[in-house]
Amino acid sequence: MGYVAPKHRARYGRLMREHTHFGFRDVPLSDKQALVDDVFRTVARRYDLMNDLMSGGLHRAWKDALVAAINPPKSERNFALLDVAGGTGDVSFRTVAAGGAGTRATVADINAEMLGVGGERAREQGLDDAIAFVDANAESLPFPDKSFDAVSIAFGIRNVPRIDVALSEMHRVLRLGGRFLCLEFSNVDVPGLDALYELYSFNVVPALGRAIVGDAEPYRYLVESIRRFPRPNAFAEMMRAAGFARVSHRLMSGGIVALHSGWRL
Ligand code: SAM
Repeated sequence: MGYVAPKHRARYGRLMREHTHFGFRDVPLSDKQALVDDVFRTVARRYDLMNDLMSGGLHRAWKDALVAAINPPKSERNFALLDVAGGTGDVSFRTVAAGGAGTRATVADINAEMLGVGGERAREQGLDDAIAFVDANAESLPFPDKSFDAVSIAFGIRNVPRIDVALSEMHRVLRLGGRFLCLEFSNVDVPGLDALYELYSFNVVPALGRAIVGDAEPYRYLVESIRRFPRPNAFAEMMRAAGFARVSHRLMSGGIVALHSGWRL
């Protein structure tokens, strides 16, 4: 951890003692973010291609469902989306394409490599005015209270060390009447499909990682982290504890993915 100023020692001491999981490994809470950052630094350039390969293109349908729920206005009315852990900006590009001239998106992510890939893409497509890329930690968002019409997080929340803190932050920056949407992997409970999914996740996905990114390890982490993420009803409780109202979720593709929804009322 290196030198820690005396005034911060009590906090770091507590963080070192508190443990969480990094995939199937138990790690000190304070180590998880650096391990996660290594994963996404390694995969950034090939991230979008890998998403297509790993999900057989299904992630596009899951993200379409997310964007339909974000429901950006087709008119020129101003509408601001914050996409937390937005990575290379896929959800933001799709939201801006679905909305009218007043739709803007802000991608907040902790990883400069992922943001860099997205920023380049936005410049190439002439969308730098519509999509902003901001280096930010989900646990401490650098935005004023109630400043966004909608807040989304897609396949990001399970990577954040303190999920409860991130949920409170996303609730804080959402305007009254605004909607929070979280797309995340869930649990496949369909007999037959569950065994197939298990086989695919633990064998095919890391092998694809080795072939395309040159490293199986980041994808082993991604698969393991999916298994450690709370079940939808437990996650719904966490959303309520953070202040969200009318919390609900719907499963997609036999439970591979869940779209969670909550409102700030
Ligand atoms: N949302 C994008 C998508 O669906 O294509 C990217 C999802 S990617 C699986 C997870 C992202 O979470 C990575 O870009 C990673 O850098 C980001 N991330 C991890 N921990 C974070 C944190 N504490 N704050 C903000 N972003 C974080």
